[in-house]
Amino acid sequence: MRRKLVAGNWKMHGSLKKNAALLNSVRALSPGLDCDIAVCVPYPYLAQAQALLDGSKIALGAQNLSEHEAGAFTGEVSAVMLGEFACRYVLVGHSERRSIYGESDALVAEKFVAAVNHGLVPILCVGEKLDEREGGCTEQVVARQMSAVIERAGVAAFAKAVVAYEPVWAIGTGMTASPAQAQDVHCAIRAQVAALDSGLADGLRILYGGSVKPQNARELFSQSDIDGGLIGGAALVADDFLAICRAAI
Ligand code: PEP
Repeated sequence: MRRKLVAGNWKMHGSLKKNAALLNSVRALSPGLDCDIAVCVPYPYLAQAQALLDGSKIALGAQNLSEHEAGAFTGEVSAVMLGEFACRYVLVGHSERRSIYGESDALVAEKFVAAVNHGLVPILCVGEKLDEREGGCTEQVVARQMSAVIERAGVAAFAKAVVAYEPVWAIGTGMTASPAQAQDVHCAIRAQVAALDSGLADGLRILYGGSVKPQNARELFSQSDIDGGLIGGAALVADDFLAICRAAI
């Protein structure tokens, strides 16, 4: 049985004051929750979150990393730096990185490798745009995004990774994939990995992301290939995030 993971993606939200209230509330109720929990916070808040979460079961994550280890890369942050703040997870290839910042499949693969090489668990985000879904090529798009990483990193690297299926049309829009739509894609992702290593595929956690709310989380998480969620907007409201974590139990 795969243990469920609920990861919050704060995106570019937060303030020292708001973060403290949010993290303290989530921390206070987390001991009773029998699932893995993570929060992916903006870089400047890593130290604050590390201190506030110290000794708790909530893991820390970042939302991006450089593919490079160090050097003249102004504005970038390396995997080694994230490790110094006790980051366990890092989002790789979030659709906002792909669409707004032009991250290609090849760059996403390099970032995935940088994370794994430095002991971080990449949460590899894949997903189709609305026109791709309407054009009937959802599985083709997701398979291409997965292949780029598998070819670069090797399938064995997925033993230390998490995949998040996030249909782009469902992120921040209030439009959620139906549990059946999500399950179909999760099943296809697992089958792609299983074709190379079935044991690894059985243990691979595949999260669903895209307008997950307390109202729809339980049905999504009850699908056989959905192993938790990557949560954007609802991760900024302690009660909602905790309710989503409860739906994962
Ligand atoms: C996300 O940011 O990855 C996300 C899924 O956002 P939301 O839950 O707001 O759709």
